[in-house]
Amino acid sequence: MMQQDMVLCGARVVDPVNGVDEIREVGISDGRFAAPESLKSPRRVDLRGLVLAPGFIDLHVHLREPGQTHKEDIGSATRAAAAGGFTTVLAMPNTAPAIDTAERVQAVQQAAADRGAVHVLQAGALTLERAGKELADYAAMQAAGAPALTDDGSTPQDSEVMRAVMQAAAALRLPVVDHCEDSSLSKPGVMHAGATAALMQLPGQPRAAEETIVTRDIALARETGCRVHLQHLSTAGAVQELRTARREGLPVSGEVTPHHLFLTDAAAEVYGVNAKMAPPLREEGDRQALLAGVLDGTITCIATDHAPHTAAEKAAGWLEAPFGIIGLEAAVPLCLTGLYHTGFLSLSRLVSLFTQGPRELLGLPVGAMTIGAAADVTVLDLDAPHRLKVAEFASRSHNCPYDGWACRGKVVGVFVQGKWTGAAAYGL
Ligand SMILES: [Zn+2]
Repeated sequence: MMQQDMVLCGARVVDPVNGVDEIREVGISDGRFAAPESLKSPRRVDLRGLVLAPGFIDLHVHLREPGQTHKEDIGSATRAAAAGGFTTVLAMPNTAPAIDTAERVQAVQQAAADRGAVHVLQAGALTLERAGKELADYAAMQAAGAPALTDDGSTPQDSEVMRAVMQAAAALRLPVVDHCEDSSLSKPGVMHAGATAALMQLPGQPRAAEETIVTRDIALARETGCRVHLQHLSTAGAVQELRTARREGLPVSGEVTPHHLFLTDAAAEVYGVNAKMAPPLREEGDRQALLAGVLDGTITCIATDHAPHTAAEKAAGWLEAPFGIIGLEAAVPLCLTGLYHTGFLSLSRLVSLFTQGPRELLGLPVGAMTIGAAADVTVLDLDAPHRLKVAEFASRSHNCPYDGWACRGKVVGVFVQGKWTGAAAYGL
């Protein structure tokens, strides 16, 4: 059934790709953005006081399907994404089995089309079974719809394999999205190798575990011309290397998670295993460097690394519990509170970290409110005070340190191809 044409009225529209930040009307017809004046007798929806942004894109989500649906599945993850303000997610391929063939890319996309609340883009694995040895068939996965490649959770430890990965990816103009961790340095660490690890008598991971791979990847990007994106940066040194590489004009970008922006390794004593993630939370100097990297444009994307695990799995204790926390439903309120309301970033800059940066990486017509494009919109109430209630999150898992955190600004809902998902208010 075709939806009635709609005009969203009275809201502040913030669309960095198109250089818009003003109160204006937004038309939607047949699931696409349309010029409001071109629509005949549309339904008018009064959204005064709210902000409309292009649908936010989360470049780093673990759907856990196939194979780990006790943690999360495509339905629950995409409902969490919609509740968190994201209309597109890039799914990581470290499922069971790994997404390392065109058939598996297609299977996730079909399941997402059937059961997903938002758009799901499936990244293909770099290597078969993510074992770091044999390259997967990139051309076939690209033809099936994979817009990027990654072995996230790990990276090929053999640099000659990574060189071959980047040569093959560059030939297809596919970006390589990398989890920068030298496991010979990181294992058996479970947190940052610093004072807190010493205090808690836990094995640590040195910054060099991340920085050696960042250095390698930048060198290989220079040699191969491959588009490289560095995932979940955590150290001051990694930010500086990315800054230098971008100044050199290399095709390299980077993302940061909200937890690396807002927490340090000291959180381990407060939040227990919900402060265990890979890469680990670092020290205040690293956190400040990540913030500086966001501020000066070195880091162009905020991504959640939404990593669901059950309470029983996380209860295994510091040494045994899996790495990761959920993030889809906390990221936008945390960033509005900690980056926008503090005056650190303008609203347009904050929106661009969820739209323009990911859009540039993926090279897809998402993340902008352009006439004719799919009508994906994130609707924000900038000033609403509230507390995060993890028990009410749509995600199947609740491994999250932010329960009870006071936030200012929240997601009202999203339009995905013109279809509203969110608060039953405003006549929507
Ligand atoms: Zn990762």
